[in-house]
Amino acid sequence: MAQMDEDLVAAAREVMVRSYSPYSGYRVGAALLTADGTVVSGCNVESVSYGLSMCAERVAVGRAIAGGYREFRAIAVVTDGSEDVTPCGACRQVLAEFAPNLRVVLEGAGERRVRSLESLLPEPFEAPPNWRAQRDETGT
Ligand SMILES: [Zn+2]
Repeated sequence: MAQMDEDLVAAAREVMVRSYSPYSGYRVGAALLTADGTVVSGCNVESVSYGLSMCAERVAVGRAIAGGYREFRAIAVVTDGSEDVTPCGACRQVLAEFAPNLRVVLEGAGERRVRSLESLLPEPFEAPPNWRAQRDETGT
């Protein structure tokens, strides 16, 4: 566990430096560990139209899905600022779509915390049963 956390945090730090965050200056990197041990990372991407900005976590999820990965074991989220870091509500919901029991390693303000996604989002929105059946049928 400890080595896995180290590797994920290192990958998140590596991608964090590519953050596009000219407005907030808040650089964030995220690294997802897939079921087969592959690491997929993402950084935050801001827009002059603030609402269009994308969080590092969801960029990583998008890259992972595009790469054919849908099962995740852990995510590391890091920032180099003096602020703490934690996934926003939208990212928690998106992560819960794929991995409700995800291990979440957070590193900001010089401190590392480990949480479960379930503890961060105890009651995620869930698809009504008819949506779920449709999803299982199509496999998409
Ligand atoms: Zn977010």
